Formats: sequence, C-alpha cells, structure tokens
Amino acid sequence: MARRNKLYEGKAKVLYEGPEQGTLVQYFKDDATAFNAEKKDVIDGKGVLNNRLSEFFMTGLTQLGVHNHFIKRLNMREQLIRACEIIPLEVIVRNVAAGSMAKRLGMEEGTPLPRPIVEFSYKDDALGDPLVPEEYIVAFGWASQQDLDDIVAIALRVNDYLSGVMYGVGIKLVDFKIEIGRVWEDDFMRLIVADEISPDSCRLWDIESGQKLDKDVFRRDLGSLTDAYTEVARRLGVMPSNVTHAPKPEIIN
Ligand code: UDP
Repeated sequence: MARRNKLYEGKAKVLYEGPEQGTLVQYFKDDATAFNAEKKDVIDGKGVLNNRLSEFFMTGLTQLGVHNHFIKRLNMREQLIRACEIIPLEVIVRNVAAGSMAKRLGMEEGTPLPRPIVEFSYKDDALGDPLVPEEYIVAFGWASQQDLDDIVAIALRVNDYLSGVMYGVGIKLVDFKIEIGRVWEDDFMRLIVADEISPDSCRLWDIESGQKLDKDVFRRDLGSLTDAYTEVARRLGVMPSNVTHAPKPEIIN
C-alpha cells in the first residue's frame, strides 16, 4: 500500500497530496480546539459532520457561481479540493454582535448590526490572529487593494447565501469566518473560497429559542457539540442523524 504524503496538519484538518497536480485531499479530524488551542478535546463524529456540511455549503456556492476549492467528497472524512495559495487572513462577516466584537466594543451579544460588517484578522496563532485594518493588508502586500475589494464582494455573497439557507431552516447566521485562496488559470489569477464552511467557523443560533448550534457549545461548555452539529445537518437534510454514531467495523479473528 502506498503511503500518502502529508503536507500540513492543522488543529481540525489534515491536508494530503492529491491524486493529480493541483489537487489536495482534505481530511476532517474529530479534534476541537478553542482559545488558540488552550482548550482541546476529541469530539466523536465532528469530522464526519463537518466534511458533509462543508461539502453542502461549497456545492451551493458553486451553483451560485461563487468559486471555491471543493471538487468532490471522497469518503466520510475526506474531500478532494483544489490546491490554492491561502491568503493569510481570516475574513470575518458579522450580522449580529457576538464573540470578540461584542467584547471589544462592550456590546451585548445578540445586538443586530446596522449592516453586515466584514473584518480581517491576520492568520498567526502565535499572535492570536490579531484584527488588522485593510491598510495593513495592502501595505504589507498580503493582498492588493483590488484583491481586497473582490474578497469583500465574495464574503458578502457568501453571507447572503449562508444567511438565506440558514434562515430557511430556522437558524440565524450571527457571524462566520472564511479563508480565501489564489489559483492560477493560464495567465489569470482567481480568488476562491477555501478551507471550510462548517459550524466550527460560524455562529449559528436557533431563531426560536436562541440555542447555540456551533462551536460556542464547546468553547462555553454548553452541552454536546455533536448533537448541535447533527441538528444543523438534520435540518439541512445533509445526512441522517445516526450516521456519525455508526459502530466501527468489528474485527473478526
Ligand atoms: N472564527 C473562526 N476561527 C478563528 C476565529 C474566529 O472560525 O480562528 C469564527 C468564529 O467561529 C465566529 C467568527 O469567526 O463565527 C467571529 O469570531 P470572533 O472574532 O467573534 O472570535 P471568537 O469569539 O471566536 O474568538
């Protein structure tokens, strides 16, 4: 059996060399981390759910003409993706004040914002992913002004799509994070949505009860993360609720 070439291992995912040039295999782990990896756990079934949910959202974006890295799902935990050069920014879109914004500005979590707000953090765990103004991004050459304008437009399209999909199943999209990568097509560079879109990177609140259905369940010890993500998947019709709990195959001697 050939051994795969592991290219990168992050907190929640592993990237392997893909079968063809320009492709990668993205493996979703069950590991959960928060507060810059100070809090860690293994959550049974999280990887399976996020693999399916990210596939669902990326496929929907493709149908709307929003280019992204997803090619196809390979199995329960892996998907084939386009290799891209990740821009070292976390692109955050907010509809409602929560998390670090609420804290920074002394706002009550849940306060609706006058309009969607796009902000950027510089991806660097050692620095705690600091918030950066657009001017830093252009001055340090992480992205050009034209790229930034395109990134904001992409982020807002993703926000419209995700908000609508979630609203349809009784969930409020409070905020989310995406990452953007560059791919080259002949002489042209294209910006694509990369990384993942899942309840790990969104804040999702049930519209009726306000119940949290995202990674805050883990960050704030609010119950079972698998149950929360399974509920999101169930409402979206992404997978039957019992798949993640399927028993592992038995080894018969
Ligand atoms: N987020 C993320 N990865 C990060 C930081 C934030 O996916 O490293 C997501 C987070 O889940 C939330 C949104 O981005 O949906 C805004 O996060 P915030 O800035 O409020 O930071 P947090 O409160 O999560 O530290």
